[in-house]
Amino acid sequence: MAKMYETVIGLEVHVELATKTKIFCSCSTEFGGAPNTHTCPVCTGMPGSLPVLNKKVVEYAMAIGLATNCDITRVCKFDRKNYFYPDNPQNYQISQLYLPIASKGYVEIEVGGRKKKVRIHEMHMEEDAGKLIHDEWDDTSLVDYNRSGVPLVEIVSEPDMRSAEEVIAYLEKLRMIIQYLGASDCKLQEGSMRADVNLSVREAGTEEFGTRTEMKNLNSFKAIARAIEGERERQIELLEEGKAVVQETRRWDDNKESSYAMRSKEDAQDYRYFPEPDLVPIVISDEWIEQIRKKQPELRTEKLKRYQKEFDIPQYDAEIITASKHMADIFEAATRICGKPKKVSNWLMVETLRLLKDHNMEPEDITFSPENLAKLVELTESKAINSSVAKEVFEKIFSEDVDPEVYVEEHGLKMVNDEGALEEVLKKVIADNPQAAEDYRGGKEKALGALVGQTMKAMKGKADPGLVNRKLREMINE
Ligand code: ADP
Ligand code: MG
Ligand code: ZN
Repeated sequence: MAKMYETVIGLEVHVELATKTKIFCSCSTEFGGAPNTHTCPVCTGMPGSLPVLNKKVVEYAMAIGLATNCDITRVCKFDRKNYFYPDNPQNYQISQLYLPIASKGYVEIEVGGRKKKVRIHEMHMEEDAGKLIHDEWDDTSLVDYNRSGVPLVEIVSEPDMRSAEEVIAYLEKLRMIIQYLGASDCKLQEGSMRADVNLSVREAGTEEFGTRTEMKNLNSFKAIARAIEGERERQIELLEEGKAVVQETRRWDDNKESSYAMRSKEDAQDYRYFPEPDLVPIVISDEWIEQIRKKQPELRTEKLKRYQKEFDIPQYDAEIITASKHMADIFEAATRICGKPKKVSNWLMVETLRLLKDHNMEPEDITFSPENLAKLVELTESKAINSSVAKEVFEKIFSEDVDPEVYVEEHGLKMVNDEGALEEVLKKVIADNPQAAEDYRGGKEKALGALVGQTMKAMKGKADPGLVNRKLREMINE
């Protein structure tokens, strides 16, 4: 009988923190500047330069630690991880090995209706490396140190996950918590969140873990799911052939849907870690922790409950809206202005999601203001514009954040509520389409549609369709 295997997965997640300046100098952390323009002697590793710790990094790390149920280490310090690589100008990375800032936490995930805790072993602070750009034509490599010294936290989980679904649920949960805290935008594609997947397999029912590999270069949830599937199969195949899995780091190539060995797994001693001599230990007082705890914003779980209670919107709506902190902020601000939560929610759930999908955008990329969305709700509620005009105006709000009142005024889109004018048009439409009118009188309900269409066209789309329908029926039957 074929053996059954269980997959065992633990993650190392790097998150770039949203500070304005780097971890040990005052250079900008902004993404995408011209190469080597956000640099100074500290982050380019010049001899004699000294690091100064950015307090905000510690505060973000504490906020993440608290939100993931970790213990905060009261006296923590930095360590030097020594290795040579051209993207690392000091020849060492300042990281934390012995006393990381947080440990022993967990986040709760839900997969297929089942709740589960994924434990966090520890979280530490460290600096990011620069970026190598390999020039394929010139056979040279260039280096950009703009990213060198950007603050990171690395969150190391226990090997508690058993499937790709659990891994993605865990990452989504972490991402949501960190985004809500404002500690990072957590964009996998831009690399502000990066996950390394440690995976082993074992025969179902056995206790002992198998030998693991670590996979790097995973920059989307889809790539992570494919890499997990691919690596699981590769390891099972080895075991079935009676071979051993080699503990190593592998690089996933999502185009080829396969991984290749990068290097054999290094141990902590390979890095010759020692306490960072240029930085003093960080002492974290109870008061400081309390201060951070008090400032913690409402996280998604609480928001989800509050929306249903306070705004009386369905759970389904609340889930979609709170899945993005940015969308939730827009929802709340717009609702506060117009007082119509369900209407605001509908614009977000239907038209906004549709347009995001059409433009291949994320909710985080929404640029319109809650004020303009609220105004649009008010314009439709007061029947100043009809629903098809509202959709057209919303597209303009979505793309250019236009003020709908101004836009409607300038483009003459106000609904025509002048019954006299409407009657004139209806008379003409009925007279011009005697057959349709006759069909309707004869019981053909469908014939009315054509007449409504003609009327709306004559009114340049600005009539109230309900009123047109009612008037039309009255006038045909007269
Ligand atoms: P190292 O310090 O060598 O990187 P760690 O013990 O810190 O090793 O583990 C790194 C990651 O690998 C952690 O997320 C952990 O959960 C995971 N891990 C450890 N052992 C296994 C295993 N046998 N199978 C899958 N994942 C594992
Ligand atoms: Mg590790
Ligand atoms: Zn610098």
